[in-house]
Amino acid sequence: MSMTKEDILKKAEELDVKFVRLQFTDILGITKNVAITVEQLEEALEEGIMFDGSSIDGFTRIQESDMYLKPDLDTFITFPWRPKTGGTVARLICDVCTPDGEAFVGGPRNVLQNVLEEAEEMGYEMYVGPEPEFFLFEKTEEGEATTITHDDGGYFDLGPVDLGQDARRDIILALDEMGFEVEASHHEVAPGQHEIDFKYEDALSTADNIATFKFVVKSIANQHDLHATFMPKPIFGENGSGMHVHQSLFKDGNNVFYDEDAELGLSQTAKYYIGGLLKHAKAIAAITNPTINSYKRLVPGYEAPVYQAWSASNRSALIRIPAASGAGTRLEMRNPDPTANPYLAIAVMLKAGLDGIKNEIEPPAEVVENIYEMTAERKAELGIESLPANINEAVQELLKDETIKNALGDHVLEHFVTAKEIEWDTYRTQVHDWELEQYLSVY
Ligand code: GLU
Ligand code: MG
Ligand code: MG
Repeated sequence: MSMTKEDILKKAEELDVKFVRLQFTDILGITKNVAITVEQLEEALEEGIMFDGSSIDGFTRIQESDMYLKPDLDTFITFPWRPKTGGTVARLICDVCTPDGEAFVGGPRNVLQNVLEEAEEMGYEMYVGPEPEFFLFEKTEEGEATTITHDDGGYFDLGPVDLGQDARRDIILALDEMGFEVEASHHEVAPGQHEIDFKYEDALSTADNIATFKFVVKSIANQHDLHATFMPKPIFGENGSGMHVHQSLFKDGNNVFYDEDAELGLSQTAKYYIGGLLKHAKAIAAITNPTINSYKRLVPGYEAPVYQAWSASNRSALIRIPAASGAGTRLEMRNPDPTANPYLAIAVMLKAGLDGIKNEIEPPAEVVENIYEMTAERKAELGIESLPANINEAVQELLKDETIKNALGDHVLEHFVTAKEIEWDTYRTQVHDWELEQYLSVY
């Protein structure tokens, strides 16, 4: 589907669109938008809309603040939860451009497009399917978010215990109207935790979908007086929220990860891709697990990965090979969480995989034992290393990894690292409740 300017203007008129939100994602993964009225749409489609880049985290410095939003015409949709008469709201996802029309190096969408081009030069098209998890929490009367859940549901529970299912159903209906193909949705393991999986698509569309998905979930939950959060580990002692990322590469319409004759149906190309992901896993974590809280999820015992290994079945491994063959052959990277900037996360994983293919990086043997239960000696014997223990370690690993740094480009790298250093320092110097509980009366 390729839309023209005329198609969009016509559609906007048919659907009685009054406001158009020009949507983009900043370096830290926060979705922003600039609203214009439909009267400005034609000009926006032709020339883009100027905005002040210096007011967006990590975009530009004051002296070079003029930036343009250039709408991607294929991303026009209306928001089904907004009024339909007297002013429908539509949105367009935008690329960020400099005043002379060049793609801005600090735009996360542009970062992904660059790595996708590299894949294309090798003849590959990447497909990605995400599994975002989130919590629905109650709000106080003043509307503040709590961590109180509204249900005692568990994995795949049905029926009256699952009070979040009303909200979840409305979220799915809205996604459906917006053109998402929702494949599965269920209650997750923790109380108040949910998952909605949508169909895999090409990498850029999926990154766009993830960015859109998060604010649809939040908006609809809000209408049900619930607070939706993608924070990875809101409750100690319960499963956290991940965003597993299924990935495969196609060449001339065929899945190059599939080899009928190979063990597990995995081609040598898939093996090299896994080799690349494992080689760069520590640096990738800085991007796929970008917050302090991300690392509270990556601990043993909660179905989240801690160790750098791959396996066909084992959920304690970083990379799992789901049972599927032919076009469906893929690998599932299990450490990403939904606080990741979807564009940057997919970009660095693809970059690592391509590096594996180019340099024929053979992965270590598949691990079939449960790694959570392995002794340190056994792990050492198999050469299984741990993911970084916190965001500071992950950022240090990122700074050592030329391949991943190269995928991000200097601008994004610099702004990302500076933001994370500040975050880490603020956290590190803070006195937390846990410390008071441990030490205040004992010492
Ligand atoms: N919630 C788990 C995580 O933190 C994943 C559970 C699952 O396998 O879907 O990754
Ligand atoms: Mg899940
Ligand atoms: Mg999964």
